[in-house]
Parts: sequence; C-alpha cells; structure tokens
Amino acid sequence: MAIIGFIGLGNMGGPMAINLLKAGHDVKVFDLSALALEQVVSKGGKAAASAVDAVTKVDFIISMLPAGQHVQELYQTGDTPLLNVITKNTLIIDCSTIDAMTAQRVCTAASDRGLDFIDAPVSGGVGGAVAGSLAFMVGATEEQFLKAKPILECMGNNIFHAGQSGAGQIAKACNNMMLSILMAGTSEALNMGMRNGLDPAILSEIMKQSSGNNWALQVYNPVPGVMEAVPSSNNYQGGFQVDLMFKDLGLAMELSQQSNSPVPMGSVARSLFSLHKSKGNGKLDFSSVIKLYQDS
Ligand code: NAD
Repeated sequence: MAIIGFIGLGNMGGPMAINLLKAGHDVKVFDLSALALEQVVSKGGKAAASAVDAVTKVDFIISMLPAGQHVQELYQTGDTPLLNVITKNTLIIDCSTIDAMTAQRVCTAASDRGLDFIDAPVSGGVGGAVAGSLAFMVGATEEQFLKAKPILECMGNNIFHAGQSGAGQIAKACNNMMLSILMAGTSEALNMGMRNGLDPAILSEIMKQSSGNNWALQVYNPVPGVMEAVPSSNNYQGGFQVDLMFKDLGLAMELSQQSNSPVPMGSVARSLFSLHKSKGNGKLDFSSVIKLYQDS
C-alpha cells in the first residue's frame, strides 16, 4: 500500500481521498478549510499540518484544486512552492481541471528539478467521485501513466492515457465543450417539441431510438419528471453546476484561440451558459439551461 499526500478536499477531493482510504492506502490530507479536512480525517485520513507536511515522505501527491492559479501557486510560485520540497520518486498527480498551458508549465518546472508532475482531470461529477467511478484523462509519459494507474483505479473505472503533459486537460476541455453543446441542443429540441404539444417523455424516447440519440437523452434528461434520480427531477440541485460548466467552457475557448481551432458551436454554448449564469442560476445543475428556452 502506498503513502499518499492529498491536497484539496472539496466536493470532489473529499470523496476521492476517502476512496483511497477504503482501498487501504495511507492518506495524509490537507485543505485550507478545517471543515473539509475534518470530513476526511473522520474517515481515517491523517491530518497534515500544512501542504508541505502533506507532501513530505509520500509516494504520491494528489491535488484537487479549483483553478490553474491555485495549482501554479501551490507548486511553483507561491510563498512555499512545493516543488522546492518534494523529493524525487514521488509522483505528483494533479486532478484539478485547469488550462493545459499551466499544467505544462508546472510539469516543466517539476522536470527541471528531476520531479514528475502529471495532469489527470476527471469526468463523472460528485456522484462519480463518491462511487469511485470517475473517468481520468491523463497527460503523462507512458512510465508515469503506468505508475499512476493503480492509484487512479481506486477512484475511477475508466483511466485513459490521453497523451503527453497537458493532453489530459485538452481532452477534458474537448469533452466538456461537447457536453455543453449536447445539453443545449437537447434542451432546444425538447422545448420545441413541448411547445408543439408533444409529451417530453415520448419525444425523448423517439429521439433516443433515432439519430438524435445522445448522452443527455440517455442518462441526464433536462426536463423535470422524464427521468428519476437526475438533477432536473430534483429542482436542478446536485450534479454539475452551471458555474463549473462556464469555467470549463472558458478553458475550451482559450484552447481554441491558442490552437486556432474554430469552435462556433462551443462559443454559442458558452454564450448560452453565460446568459443563464447571469440570471442567478450559477449554482444549479447545468441541465437547467433548458429554462433559458422555456422562459423565453
Ligand atoms: P471545491 O471548491 O469544492 O474544492 C476545492 C477545495 O480546494 C476546497 O476545499 C478549498 O478549500 C481547497 N483549496 C483551495 N486552495 C487550496 C490550497 N492552496 N491548499 C489546500 N486546499 C486548497 O471544488 P470541487 O468541486 O471539488 O472541484 C475541484 C476541481 O475538480 C475543480 O478544478 C473542478 O473544475 C473539478 N471538477 C469538478 C467537478 C464537480 O462536479 N464538482 C467535476 C469534475 C471536475
């Protein structure tokens, strides 16, 4: 069993650290929030006094932080950059969703010091983090990927090697841009059907069995009551917040600019989520974007 330092025990990081504990690993945990820390300590995590303490004498370090700025400050540019204290042979796995360039910058700074830093953002939301069924998209060398895989398998069941450093973040940006387009398109079609008198459950079934079939129709229908146990049937609570989708679409737009990739559909989806967020819906699940159509 490995000794793992885990930093960032929020909605995602908390349950991920708990799954590592359940798998029998020794997990040293740290978060700026005492409450977040306590929730994992109560399940067997060892409280670290600081981020430096969490990364001392461990085999792996996992971070799950809000954005790129937090990752860069923690490892490279903050008051006590962890890259200055982490020892060789410790594999650093950053699971936060951040821009690929920051991931590559921190990776280069790490490798300049003889250290290994890989990006491994996740898909599957809080439900997937709790269930241990996340998908990981990893940007790493083959050797780093093989070393990380058994640890990631304690928290997820689809572990993909997307490519070299930054590739995990690029895959995540592509996936979430696609997801936003699918959800907006599905909402648009369902709303038009409903305005023309169709039952959304029947229309959903027709499209699911026809060429309009997609993930939103299969497992995440945006119309309340069509499916049980999805956010739309629970006042759009839980699930994946509009704020986070908006953040991820920002990362996708940055990536499109850097790579000169046309993303007209992604840009429209970002405008829709921006408008929806500006109406005070940032904390709702992203399938609530259907309200934009229903309210117009
Ligand atoms: P969160 O805000 O719930 O948790 C982040 C945690 O990091 C907080 O507890 C905060 O106190 C801690 N933190 C911030 N800076 C720190 C520092 N310097 N040292 C120690 N702790 C620090 O966020 P979350 O929902 O858990 O998301 C984490 C990451 O996962 C984000 O990048 C997000 O985009 C990504 N993500 C989230 C979801 C989701 O559904 N919530 C799904 C996929 C990916």
